[in-house]
Amino acid sequence: MAIQRPKGTQDIFPGIVEKWHYLEAHIRKVCSDFGYQEIRTPIFESTELFQRGVGDTTDIVNKEMYTFLDKGQRSITLRPEMTASVCRAYVENKLYSQPQPVKLYYMGPMFRYENTQAGRFRQFHQFGAEVLGGEDPLVDAEIIQVIWELYRRIGLRGVEVHINSVGCPVCRGEHRERLHSYLQDRVAELCQDCQSRFERNPMRILDCKNRDCQRLTVGAPTTLETLCDDCKEHFDKVQHYLRILEMPYKINPKMVRGLDYYQKTAFEVMAEGIGAQSAICGGGRYDGLVEEIGGPATPGIGFAMGMERILAVLEKQQAGWEDETDYKVVVAALGETAREKGFQLTMELRQANISAQMDLLGRGLKSQMKHADRVQARYAVIIGEEELAGNIAIIRDMKLGDQTETALESVKEYILDQINQSQREV
Ligand code: ATP
Ligand code: MG
Repeated sequence: MAIQRPKGTQDIFPGIVEKWHYLEAHIRKVCSDFGYQEIRTPIFESTELFQRGVGDTTDIVNKEMYTFLDKGQRSITLRPEMTASVCRAYVENKLYSQPQPVKLYYMGPMFRYENTQAGRFRQFHQFGAEVLGGEDPLVDAEIIQVIWELYRRIGLRGVEVHINSVGCPVCRGEHRERLHSYLQDRVAELCQDCQSRFERNPMRILDCKNRDCQRLTVGAPTTLETLCDDCKEHFDKVQHYLRILEMPYKINPKMVRGLDYYQKTAFEVMAEGIGAQSAICGGGRYDGLVEEIGGPATPGIGFAMGMERILAVLEKQQAGWEDETDYKVVVAALGETAREKGFQLTMELRQANISAQMDLLGRGLKSQMKHADRVQARYAVIIGEEELAGNIAIIRDMKLGDQTETALESVKEYILDQINQSQREV
């Protein structure tokens, strides 16, 4: 039997990969416009990084990690997310001694052993950004603006930004106590996960997706009710700055992020139209994380968005992918000498930064022209036996349907001229 790809993985091939390019190009441009620089870290890290950096009360660490022993008996994990890696790299490379804040972004595959369903894969891609060394609420507003601006540029509609504050170690103690006494008599009715969260991480019960848990927490105390003065002021300022940017948002007091080290601001972006997996982006402040993994006390904030889910929303909304502005040329030649001339010409066009191809299978002229159609070439350069004898080529404008003859040695100039002209007309 033929070998198949592992469950929860995808092949991204031509026809689809262009949509990835479209999204990636916009991501890079937005990040550079906002002053974020790219960071690339290893796909695998020592398991301990995620145990400490993501937190061993989270689903990610408890249930979803791809962990194995390598041949040297080290415990290795395929990264399930990037924040821990970015913080590790920040500490390991002493980026804290550079001017702060450090603004970084990344894109790449993440790995989680999940129950696969629509929009939920075992290998999926995230775009994310992190700001380390900045605790001002302006930073929170700016990083949320990165997300909003990206969606504006790619034409994503029907998205909602939800924000909340989960407090800090100072005020979370009180919330925990209140929540405990509120849920004390209902523990038995909570789902299995939440029963264990009740002792280890009760705050997370608030955003459990289980219907019973949601019903049981309808009137439960939220973190917003117990914010200390510092956290309250921070949250007010974040909202103030978001209003200055005229960014719409909703306060969702039940939204608490999955990671243990989140503090103060938490946010999530929801999209309509892609079913149950409607969270397309999640993020928040994690002021305790860098210290937790052995660095100096450093405030941090970041987000991660699921790229497959963004593409799914775009697909649903049939948003227009950017027009292909590339001019493609197909050189169609018949006979060995014509093929040699054509081969040379193809090379010259490519050296002039024009996308050019020629037949590699020795097919007839007719199927070469079919190929030109299929790859949506703008120009076909035809060199048959007759043309070769007259030292000319036929240049067909595949879009306008007209054609012209030109001397073989001026084909390149002719095409460059045509492209220049139509670019001026645009
Ligand atoms: P969920 O509640 O959907 O499991 P999460 O809290 O685990 O999300 P994060 O760890 O915050 O998600 O990841 C950020 C984003 O990455 C999510 O909002 C989502 O868009 C995307 N994402 C997370 N897990 C997957 C997955 N298994 N497949 C595809 N996209 C994912
Ligand atoms: Mg998850």
